[in-house]
Amino acid sequence: MTQVPQTSPTPPRHDVLVLGAGPAGVVAARGLRAAGYSVALVGAPRPFDAFEGLSERAAEGLGSAGCHEAFGRLGAEVRRVATWNGETSDANRETLVDRQAFDAGLRRDAAAAGVAVLDARIKRVEETAEGWRVTGRAGENQAFDIEAGFLVEARGRAAPAGGAGGRRGPATTALIRRWRLPSGGAPRTALAAFESGWCWFADLGTGEALFQVMAASGSGELPARPGLEVFYDDRLATIPEAAVWLAEAAPLGGVQARAAGPVLAGTLLGPTFARVGDAAFAVDPLSGNGMFQAVAVALALPAVVNTLIRRPQDRALAESFYRERVEQTFQRMCRVGRDFYRAEERWPRHPFWRARAAWPDEQAAHEPWDSEAPKLSARPVSQDGFIVRQPVIVTPDHPRGVWRVGDVPLLPLMEFLAGDESQSPAAAAAKFGAQAGYPAVSVETALSWLTHRGLAERVGGTIRLHPAPAAQLLKRQDGGPAEA
Ligand SMILES: Cc1cc2nc3c(=O)[nH]c(=O)nc-3n(C[C@H](O)[C@H](O)[C@H](O)COP(=O)(O)OP(=O)(O)OC[C@H]3O[C@@H](n4cnc5c(N)ncnc54)[C@H](O)[C@@H]3O)c2cc1C
Repeated sequence: MTQVPQTSPTPPRHDVLVLGAGPAGVVAARGLRAAGYSVALVGAPRPFDAFEGLSERAAEGLGSAGCHEAFGRLGAEVRRVATWNGETSDANRETLVDRQAFDAGLRRDAAAAGVAVLDARIKRVEETAEGWRVTGRAGENQAFDIEAGFLVEARGRAAPAGGAGGRRGPATTALIRRWRLPSGGAPRTALAAFESGWCWFADLGTGEALFQVMAASGSGELPARPGLEVFYDDRLATIPEAAVWLAEAAPLGGVQARAAGPVLAGTLLGPTFARVGDAAFAVDPLSGNGMFQAVAVALALPAVVNTLIRRPQDRALAESFYRERVEQTFQRMCRVGRDFYRAEERWPRHPFWRARAAWPDEQAAHEPWDSEAPKLSARPVSQDGFIVRQPVIVTPDHPRGVWRVGDVPLLPLMEFLAGDESQSPAAAAAKFGAQAGYPAVSVETALSWLTHRGLAERVGGTIRLHPAPAAQLLKRQDGGPAEA
């Protein structure tokens, strides 16, 4: 799988070079290869072991990205028992992921798609007249260099700082230790809040467990590395759940520290450069959503890069699509996180909870629904591998706008409903589907979307456009899009 290009006056050259072989780098590399580019992926496996919980949506995203090797290395799906504000719930599920095994599967998925994969540590990245040149060490400390016209930065939180204009939430560090349990049990995970932070426990089902303590790590809040073990033990002693979960457990190895605060890079995109995954924006691990976000943005990236390379005249469109997508997701995730921290009301004056309950701002995470609100706007969207401008329907729950549900475009469907009333939803779906070439079942899903947003309504057994908001929307389209 791994070929080491030695340093030479003419290093190997690819269309695109992806730095970092985590979920974002691999999904982006596969997508770019599928778009017809020669792609190299350079990444060093993680130097530490890590276990994380994968949400159901992230697992689906990996599946739709074709990462079957990684998918096959997922661990057990477990219930996550969360104790927050004194209440315990087990409503959420997550899949345990051994990141070293999973990431090795990801690299195989990249190679299987025809990406040139190089297990190597990147030391230097230079911009040249022809694009980019990257040098580093591979294998037995062998020097390599490699060149490309376009660079994708996907080295996660280890990527160099992301330029001016970025954002950083309250500094947080995860302190993690592995434990041997007195007896093996079924795999499970649990999360709990305590006075100065929160913690995550994962019984791996092998007689070993992980216990992760999240601590504030702004200036002076955390000791230097030699003091971390004592700090971790002191915190553990303040967590009532830890006494139960780790009863008679023995520590295995030292305490590992991982930066974990929310970060948004200032520079996300340039004419020959893009950041993706945690290198673009990293969210608070409390969301359990980091891998999902990394995969989701990586799935969107190939159309952006394709537009930058093959339609440079549409660069501004591609940039605004990507920037909006990343920034709005980051903001929404931060506000959802803030509300979750606020929901824990037992220690409002402790600096850990006070800082996180106030950041990033006071705006609602989700605007309240208003059925008058749908608007028509011409916005950049991803279509057939490029970023193009399309009329989209903007609603409070979809501030970036929606132009199709699944494959079914919404405006043509609304126009069809406007001219073809008094049908059952199934008949309307079958007729529009046959005319426009979509499966009736997909059209029915799009009809439900319109109905839920007050743009279509069911009257008796029939479906029709809602006379007020939908007709207004279509009328405005006759006179051109409502917003540029
Ligand atoms: C403490 C903690 C707990 C988390 N728990 C969860 C969870 O439970 N669920 C969840 O969904 N998400 C979780 N996350 C988030 C998740 O880890 C990330 O969001 C996700 O891995 C981002 O993917 P990525 O591909 O962008 O970056 P990464 O997965 O970090 O991949 C980057 C890759 O680049 C490589 N690399 C870095 N520097 C170099 C270099 N110089 N040379 C070569 N290679 C390099 C790294 O080794 C790595 O393989 C957690 C994060 C933290 C910090």
